[in-house]
Amino acid sequence: MGKATGFLEYARKENPFRDVKERLTDYEDLHIQQPAEERTCQASRCMNCGVPFCQSSFGCPLHNLIPEWNDLLCNGLEKEALERLLETAPFPEFTGRICPALCEKACNLADDGVTNRDNELYLIEKGFEQGWMRPRLPAERTGKHIAVVGSGPSGLAAADLLNRMGHRVTVIERAEKPGGLLMYGIPNMKLPKEIVERRIRLMEAEGVTFLLNREADPEELKEFDAVVLCGGSRKPRSLNVEHMDAEGVRFAVDFLTETTKKLLNGEDSCLAKGKHVLVVGGGDTGNDCVGTVLRQGCASVAQLEMMPAPPESRTAGNPWPEWPRTLRTDYGQQEAQAVQGSDPRIYETTVKSILTDEKNRITAVETVRLHRTPEGKMEPVPGSEQTLKCELMLIAAGFVGCEEKTLQLFGLSADGRGRLLPENLSHHLSGKFFSAGDMRTGQSLVVRALADGRAAAQEIHLFVSNHH
Ligand SMILES: Cc1cc2nc3c(=O)[nH]c(=O)nc-3n(C[C@H](O)[C@H](O)[C@H](O)COP(=O)(O)OP(=O)(O)OC[C@H]3O[C@@H](n4cnc5c(N)ncnc54)[C@H](O)[C@@H]3O)c2cc1C
Ligand code: SF4
Repeated sequence: MGKATGFLEYARKENPFRDVKERLTDYEDLHIQQPAEERTCQASRCMNCGVPFCQSSFGCPLHNLIPEWNDLLCNGLEKEALERLLETAPFPEFTGRICPALCEKACNLADDGVTNRDNELYLIEKGFEQGWMRPRLPAERTGKHIAVVGSGPSGLAAADLLNRMGHRVTVIERAEKPGGLLMYGIPNMKLPKEIVERRIRLMEAEGVTFLLNREADPEELKEFDAVVLCGGSRKPRSLNVEHMDAEGVRFAVDFLTETTKKLLNGEDSCLAKGKHVLVVGGGDTGNDCVGTVLRQGCASVAQLEMMPAPPESRTAGNPWPEWPRTLRTDYGQQEAQAVQGSDPRIYETTVKSILTDEKNRITAVETVRLHRTPEGKMEPVPGSEQTLKCELMLIAAGFVGCEEKTLQLFGLSADGRGRLLPENLSHHLSGKFFSAGDMRTGQSLVVRALADGRAAAQEIHLFVSNHH
């Protein structure tokens, strides 16, 4: 432990957000990174506990060796700290920006936990800045050739580890640019796209091949020794109401993808400009939509959430070190508060109907309040209907599994929750086919997709080593 009394001397201090007014004028990184002295203080708050819950299954899914690199960072050994971090974390520049930091809530300092995410980001950015992040090539090649279908975090993590193990790796991606939701779903202000592109360039220099604009083709995959399907959980949950085909009704990821594509092409994205916007879904994707439409100059934005507002602090049913299901006001909601004067979220409310004009354009949404029945179901409250003006409705109600198209292509069937999850919970589907990431586990987090991609790589390594 760098400093035994660090946690008593220094308060937790996260990288702050940029000022709301300033950040609403652009799509640049939300955060301001703190200087080295601040990071050393923050790292010294780590107590190197006897039982480090931060790296247990309550905390970091990658089992990052957090107390060890915090100690090295606190002692000014930044390069050594980065090397320790990279032993388990494939892409700290992603997790350092967008991980919800499960480790910090499992920290023995509980809700005052060590700022591991910001420390991790500091180390990796220092590494790139100092030229420490050079291509790391395997000592020798095994002669095995592995295909990774999909280049989201799970595919990238699998490709990275398999390549380090000496296998030849080809990533097949249907989109124009690699990265999956890192590139097209998660907005630029949370994860700037040049950060994703920087990592892809490094992976290419390390020997990974990316085939883009390419739908996976079973014929083409015959030549590979193993194939890992990392296609994500891409089928959005729809609403059971009429006029879902109306102009102005969009799924969140399609809208966010369009915004990022325009941004990358240097075009102005103004789909929401001057419009009254309703976001359906109170989660993180909904919050990303709120932040995005505000940047586009919407007339107003509201966010519907079916469930009641969570409690402000941990409850008896949700104790430490579990992830706290508490009320969080994320960047988009903070920005809406600053612009509109109030939180955009409307709880225990859903869409009853969509109103359209003669050209089938959305004009308004009829909402209805919900209440929880004694059986725990959310049911409409009669007479609670309200009409909200709406010219753009963004549906961010989650995902229901992997696309049928991919399943049909490979002759595979998903489980009841749309996942390619083998019954024995391994990654091995059949023959030389494996699965990883959201496609296997259902919609989750980047850090879990990374951990899953690495676990799949370990299984594939054993498979190709034993079977050929
Ligand atoms: C808007 C949004 C914001 C999010 N924000 C966060 C966040 O802040 N923090 C966090 O931890 N998580 C966040 N998540 C969740 C996180 O992005 C996902 O859990 C993660 O990206 C899943 O990774 P994956 O590799 O399994 O799949 P994906 O990222 O979905 O990538 C799948 C890739 O496979 C490709 N593909 C699919 N089928 C084929 C095929 N047949 N042939 C070729 N290519 C194919 C797709 O084009 C895609 O590129 C967010 C999700 C969304 C939607
Ligand atoms: S990846 Fe996430 S959970 Fe793991 S150490 Fe980093 S911030 Fe914590």
